[in-house]
Amino acid sequence: MSQAPDYTSVEEKTYCAVHPDVETALRCNRCGRYMCPRCAVRTEVGYRCRECVYQQQGKFYKATERQQALALAVVFALSLLAGLILPRLFLLGVLFFSLPTGVAIGELAFRAAGRQRGRYLPQLAVGMVILTALIANAGAIGEVLRLIEVADRLPRGVDVGSLALQRLLPIGVYAALCSLAVYGRLR
Ligand SMILES: [Zn+2]
Ligand SMILES: [Zn+2]
Repeated sequence: MSQAPDYTSVEEKTYCAVHPDVETALRCNRCGRYMCPRCAVRTEVGYRCRECVYQQQGKFYKATERQQALALAVVFALSLLAGLILPRLFLLGVLFFSLPTGVAIGELAFRAAGRQRGRYLPQLAVGMVILTALIANAGAIGEVLRLIEVADRLPRGVDVGSLALQRLLPIGVYAALCSLAVYGRLR
């Protein structure tokens, strides 16, 4: 009586679809191909092969360069305007209006982009908000810089630090809140 081979203990070896010499049991959870740790990309929904990740991103980031340029132009024009107005309000007004203004700018930019997303559009839009805040408040920022320059020649009792803070805080608060909202709408 010969013993039958025990097939259950013989596991088939599997290899990476891209690197046929690398043994792996890990599979892409979208297309099912085997992939080695070098090929696997960790995503929010589990490990996937590079090809599936690129495909997904291509579907997600569909805004054309023209649409993205248009969206950035909208952000530039509107945030330049907002940067001129908002930091000149009382701090409470800055706190109150900056976030909704950013949401509105983000929404209009999103529409300008044909309601499509761009890979780096949110980051570029944030850069635009900060840039326009600096341009729109160049006067106040320059004033603070001049004040710091002559600080040691000012009469006693003039607190350069708090004067600078008073001038710069509204600009900083506006730029932070507005860019946060714009980023949130475009991401
Ligand atoms: Zn895949
Ligand atoms: Zn591989």
